[in-house]
Amino acid sequence: MTDPIDLIRRQVSDLHQELVRYRLVVWTAGNVSARVPGEDLMVIKPSGVSYDELTPDAMILCDLDGKVVEGSHSPSSDTAAHAYVYRHLPEVGGVVHTHSTYACAWAARGEAVPCVLTAMADEFGAEIPVGPFALIGDDSIGRGIVDTLRDHRSPAVLMKSHGVFTVGKDAKAAVKAAVMCEDVARTVHISRQLGEPLPIAQADIDALNHRYQHVYGQQPAAR
Ligand SMILES: [Zn+2]
Repeated sequence: MTDPIDLIRRQVSDLHQELVRYRLVVWTAGNVSARVPGEDLMVIKPSGVSYDELTPDAMILCDLDGKVVEGSHSPSSDTAAHAYVYRHLPEVGGVVHTHSTYACAWAARGEAVPCVLTAMADEFGAEIPVGPFALIGDDSIGRGIVDTLRDHRSPAVLMKSHGVFTVGKDAKAAVKAAVMCEDVARTVHISRQLGEPLPIAQADIDALNHRYQHVYGQQPAAR
């Protein structure tokens, strides 16, 4: 019962239902993974299994090269990208990928979402950047994510002409970033239909982000 891998299987399985609840995914698109703390292992969604059939037992345990260690299905087709992120960003404990509608609308134009709302300054601390166009099949997607996010405050990247990847200290934080990314992509899109959103001064973005990440975030259960 106390096997940490079993706990992570349950967390990752449950978090996939959050993607459904927040309408970030259709059919079998989208995936959540979590690093197994202290091990060169990760837990990720199986490939091609519908969301209502995802259970803790169905989750796949892989090493950080994306090779299956335990599981009866093949892992998500995005496993190589998740694994690359864990190998290169040691502070990351969770990764999420979606094709959520409004975020993808920005990604399709290759345009970053500007930081024009205080909630965006809180969560992202900057614009949500665009990563390179990359084809699935090798490390291109993973490298694009890491190269874009490594020195960026944002935990979310819009991979050009593709979709959203988010990172977090754990899988729940990465899911939260995916939910918030779609929310602000939608709001800023609507704002742009009516005119040009007003910029927020960099010093104010910095102050908001610092407060949210370092003061607000230290209160247990507040996030
Ligand atoms: Zn995708």
